[in-house]
Amino acid sequence: MINSSNSIHDFLTDIPKTDLHVHLDGSLRVSTLIELAKAGNIKLPSYTESGLNEIVFKDQYKDLMDYLQGFSYTVSVMQNPENLEQIAYEFAWDNFNEGVRYFEVRFAPQLHVNSHQSIEDVVTAVNKGLAKAKKEFNAKTTVLNEEEPPANYAIIACAMRAFFPGMSEYFNTMLEIHRFSKSKKIFSLASVELIGAMTKARDELGLPIVGLDIAGAEKGYPPEDHKEAFDIAHKNFFKKTVHAGEAYGPESIFQAITLLHADRIGNGYYLFSYNKIKDESIIDKERYVNSLAQYIADRRITIEVCLTSNLQTNPEIGEISRHEFRKMKDARLSTTICTDNRTVSKTNITKEIELAVATFHFTETELKNSIIYGFKRSFFPGTYKEKRIYVRKIINYYEKLQKKYGRI
Ligand SMILES: [Zn+2]
Repeated sequence: MINSSNSIHDFLTDIPKTDLHVHLDGSLRVSTLIELAKAGNIKLPSYTESGLNEIVFKDQYKDLMDYLQGFSYTVSVMQNPENLEQIAYEFAWDNFNEGVRYFEVRFAPQLHVNSHQSIEDVVTAVNKGLAKAKKEFNAKTTVLNEEEPPANYAIIACAMRAFFPGMSEYFNTMLEIHRFSKSKKIFSLASVELIGAMTKARDELGLPIVGLDIAGAEKGYPPEDHKEAFDIAHKNFFKKTVHAGEAYGPESIFQAITLLHADRIGNGYYLFSYNKIKDESIIDKERYVNSLAQYIADRRITIEVCLTSNLQTNPEIGEISRHEFRKMKDARLSTTICTDNRTVSKTNITKEIELAVATFHFTETELKNSIIYGFKRSFFPGTYKEKRIYVRKIINYYEKLQKKYGRI
């Protein structure tokens, strides 16, 4: 078992890390939000960092809906290519500066489409900022020390489970044009449009878009509404990750895996909560949950665990030691620690790993496996051969740091 001390903090800062579940629009620097809002005449409830941290980006939230409030402000300053590029650039540097060597950043491009920028403009601008930071970081570090693994990243596109008037110009237009259709159909169509655009952006523009996700309020908006889009993603060899079991029970996770071909699950918090099963045809609920967990473990479907965020969106958990991560670890599920939202959750990956290590009593081997697993289960934007070479380099570097810190 690892003792918590100063040296563990330094070690965790230095080791190469991943963040496979992090939302761009939940991770803006608060100072940048204020600066861009002022420049664009956008209304914020406060124009000071302390004010916003008190009113919007809180330590605790009532529930998922409350947690999602802050996004309306961040999205409002992400409506032109210059701002998107700046936000993406700063995001990448914030990650590299705390030792994240590989991240998969996700966002919903359709929240940023308007009469001035197309969906291709949106993803191109974000990628431009990320690529610039990566180039600068790699020029600074790996040229000086070739043992250091280079930084890399990929993009995951989020479809929205549901959308409403006022969420974005694009969604307003969708709702207006299809005003005689059922909302479920419109949500489904928007997701199909998104994956069509992402296929073009990947194949024709060469952008590192590797996966599809669905985000937004889970309750009342089941994964099955987005089956067609995920089938298209599957046929085009995109990877799939699905927010499930965040505000809903195990069936939602089952649907994500079976209907949406999920390779990874975002949060998966309620995986073991058999009392949340609504399907009456499932008689032995405990058995169902255990079988589901075994299936996920055996297929190595990775759970993207976001400890602080889960606590904030589900305040009834109370304290971190009561988080289901313990059960996930005991069942030998494939898990990777992620932030979800650096600003909305007021966290970073080093803090999250430190929290997991201290609360769930990681051994040295468990910590190493957990870190390396993030790289292995990533949707790496290269060939499998290149991915293996990259992971090998990460392992060698990790072991070098273990020796340096006297941890082996
Ligand atoms: Zn998320």
